[in-house]
Amino acid sequence: MGTTPLTVDEIYDLAYRCLTSNGCDDANASAAARTISTAERDGAVSHGLFRLPGYIKSLRSGKVNGQAKPKAENLTPAAIRLDGDNGFAPLAIETGTPLLAAAADEYGIAVLTIRNSFHFAALWPEVEALAERNLVGLACTVHTPMVAPFGAKQAFFSTNPISFAYPRPGKDPYVFDMATAAKARGDIGVAARDGHELPPGVGLDADGNPTTDAKKIHQGGVILPFGGYKGSAIATMIELLAAGLVGDYFSYEAAEADNKDGGPARGGEFIMAMSPKILAGMGWSEHSEDFLTRLESMDGIRMPGQRRFDNRLSDAPREINAELVEQLNGLI
Ligand code: NDP
Repeated sequence: MGTTPLTVDEIYDLAYRCLTSNGCDDANASAAARTISTAERDGAVSHGLFRLPGYIKSLRSGKVNGQAKPKAENLTPAAIRLDGDNGFAPLAIETGTPLLAAAADEYGIAVLTIRNSFHFAALWPEVEALAERNLVGLACTVHTPMVAPFGAKQAFFSTNPISFAYPRPGKDPYVFDMATAAKARGDIGVAARDGHELPPGVGLDADGNPTTDAKKIHQGGVILPFGGYKGSAIATMIELLAAGLVGDYFSYEAAEADNKDGGPARGGEFIMAMSPKILAGMGWSEHSEDFLTRLESMDGIRMPGQRRFDNRLSDAPREINAELVEQLNGLI
């Protein structure tokens, strides 16, 4: 497989031009291009340019509004509802985050619920943006069924990702961002494209048999939850937070409503921000830092997020799948 070297700025530019040539205005295109280029910058390849053909399909089919103007409404001073106006999630998130952060700074805890929006990205940007403001962040979203609940062989949950960030003033935050499936579908798609095997326990083929063949899981099979029944319970919680509590689609409802254009399905997002300065009070940072320093100094420990933070430091061009770059240039 050949690759094309592109700097992070070139990746942003390619994504921006693809999006504006296909109906996005400047605000929507720049927010989505930022999300895509920062994913490539951090080596989160399955949520970078790989997703762009799907974004474009949804603009072309008319499912997603490239001119969306997200609108925020305060349900209470600490509960903000944001209507994404049927646009991509990045602009909705960028619009809602300062409001959420201001409410958490004032009340100690605040929630942002996003409706009528299409999420096709990783979830660490939203919680890292809160940690940068010295807030604790928690986010989750749903899309369409791909994961069989523990004991079942049919998909019911989406890969239901959840992310969490805890601020470490002067340092990168503690942050994890993970699908509650044994593997994210995007990563299975990349493995299927590149002909890589997956470890056992990731999925079942179309007949419900365990397989390590990424293609068989990707085409007609199902993914398994991580951690058996425990992962299944966390995936259920995410459906209830991101759909039940937000008031948008559960995974099966999103699939029923979707036009199957190959882009993202409509789904809600739940984002919570908490202020350690208010909740824990004076000395919160030193206290938590003591814990985190002890944790990261243990033998064999690699902190979640560290791979991305290390990748972020490099200003070398990122090696992008050459066929994908060619395909994207053809979409402009
Ligand atoms: P991974 O299993 O690769 O990683 C999950 C988390 O664990 C990351 O924070 C990662 O940090 C960390 N981690 C990985 N390896 C180790 C290790 N050896 N020790 C300690 N920590 C480790 O991610 P997933 O496949 O579960 O998810 C990938 C992405 O897909 C996520 O960004 C998720 O948000 C996204 N996604 C988005 C969906 C959507 O609908 N929008 C749906 C499903 C997933 P690091 O990043 O530094 O490797």
